[in-house]
Amino acid sequence: MPHDCSFVSELLPADRVSFADADREEHAADWWAGEVGLGVVPDVVVWPTSTEEVAAVIRAANDHDVPVTPWAAGTSVEGNAVPEFEGITMDLTRMDAILDVRPDDFQVDVEPGVIGSAVNEAVADHGLVFPSMPSSADLSTIGGMIANDASGQQTVKYGEVGDWVLGLEVVTGEGEIMTCGSRAVKSSSGYNLVDLMVGSEGTLGVVTRATLRLDGIPEQQRGGRAVFADLDDASEAIYDAVRSGVDVAKIELIDALSARMANAHLDTGLPDAPMIFVEFHADHGIDEEVAFCRTIFEAHDVVEFEVGDGASAAELWEIRDELGFAVQAYDPDLTPMHPGDVTVPISEYPPLVRYAKELGEEHDLLVPTFGHAGDGNLHYTAMVDQSDDAMVERGERVYEAVVERALEVGGTCTGEHGIGMGKQGFLEREHGAVAVEQMRRIKQAFDPNDVLNPGKLFPETAEGGRVRFAER
Ligand SMILES: Cc1cc2nc3c(=O)[nH]c(=O)nc-3n(C[C@H](O)[C@H](O)[C@H](O)COP(=O)(O)OP(=O)(O)OC[C@H]3O[C@@H](n4cnc5c(N)ncnc54)[C@H](O)[C@@H]3O)c2cc1C
Repeated sequence: MPHDCSFVSELLPADRVSFADADREEHAADWWAGEVGLGVVPDVVVWPTSTEEVAAVIRAANDHDVPVTPWAAGTSVEGNAVPEFEGITMDLTRMDAILDVRPDDFQVDVEPGVIGSAVNEAVADHGLVFPSMPSSADLSTIGGMIANDASGQQTVKYGEVGDWVLGLEVVTGEGEIMTCGSRAVKSSSGYNLVDLMVGSEGTLGVVTRATLRLDGIPEQQRGGRAVFADLDDASEAIYDAVRSGVDVAKIELIDALSARMANAHLDTGLPDAPMIFVEFHADHGIDEEVAFCRTIFEAHDVVEFEVGDGASAAELWEIRDELGFAVQAYDPDLTPMHPGDVTVPISEYPPLVRYAKELGEEHDLLVPTFGHAGDGNLHYTAMVDQSDDAMVERGERVYEAVVERALEVGGTCTGEHGIGMGKQGFLEREHGAVAVEQMRRIKQAFDPNDVLNPGKLFPETAEGGRVRFAER
């Protein structure tokens, strides 16, 4: 239902408020929700440039009972930033300053709208890097990464984005300005509100400033590709490498179908076989690490394992970054369904990959599988003709069965994309009713009027309601 949002024009200058259709529609679809018709067009888009403006808009939104959906680069794939109840979309991309680089402390303060790769450009001269970013780091923002607790290819060595956040400034759902965390690298002082904000998908507060920890750029890098005759061999080799303690910085699985899709769309010459892309980072002793990895891959019948310096592997990572687009473009008659993003304990990874493939065969569907395998992350999707209801139904079964299996073996329904609108049905199944009720109470504490990004996360909101605490 549309809302009267004219009050925002009294809070921000005219060039940072838009009721125009083009601006509103641009903020009504992310990289998945638009494809499947989820979400609605906001009534207005605003671009605050300061914490005080963010707070003023949220306070007024409370007064008028109007939803506020934080929006950054809109690269989410679960409808996370797409409004469900119209209202105000708050685009944070004009708050994109690098505020303070403190190389002696390995730290940087940034505004939330800064693009991930811009942070690395700003700190590179100091020999520093923000090491844990999603494959979309050239497109997506630090605020969006924090809100989704994004992670990516380097998570196997460096952890998630959230592991590198020391402190935050946040505007709560009632428009209060709060700081949490500190510049110290550890703290046992009070509840850890930083970690609470990380992964909260804009439902608890709007991040307006972040203090990030940095790492040194490694002195040595090697990278390359290992080809296997069999998908089981490849996934078992990854499991074996990780459990044996090979110090990999990236280790990605690409199945033969995904390789064919890359070749068709990206004009790459990948072999028509399952393979692993791998990268090593170290300050010394890197060749020993590569040799250790080679021994393990050979034990799993690797057909070919080529490793070069870091630069020589750059092309492989470009292919990996583009893989999602290759899947989308593979066949004009087939659409990739819901983007699968399960993550399981590493010992469960090879059977899960096998299971996804078997499901594809059983339901006669193409199911490309790839992912940040070193942390047990599997991306998969069923390719379906949207005009064929039976095929779509089979695709849904494949999608859900893999999530169910991941949960059964102690994994999660989403390793990095978040719940958004797409995974609400799994939240309670993963965490149980008691934990989800505690989440609701946390939501109530930070955002008692359910103003911030309503319609996301909670199972009942998937039915079309807002979390109305007073009615509960
Ligand atoms: C090609 C491609 C590759 C991808 N690869 C990966 C990957 O490897 N790993 C991964 O984790 N994800 C990946 N993603 C998903 C997505 O890019 C990430 O989740 C990213 O962090 C989203 O950032 P964004 O700036 O686009 O945020 P948006 O999509 O705009 O917003 C994300 C969420 O954050 C909230 N939000 C935004 N800004 C703020 C703020 N300042 N305060 C509070 N809440 C806020 C929004 O309401 C929304 O819930 C990929 C996406 C694409 C399109």
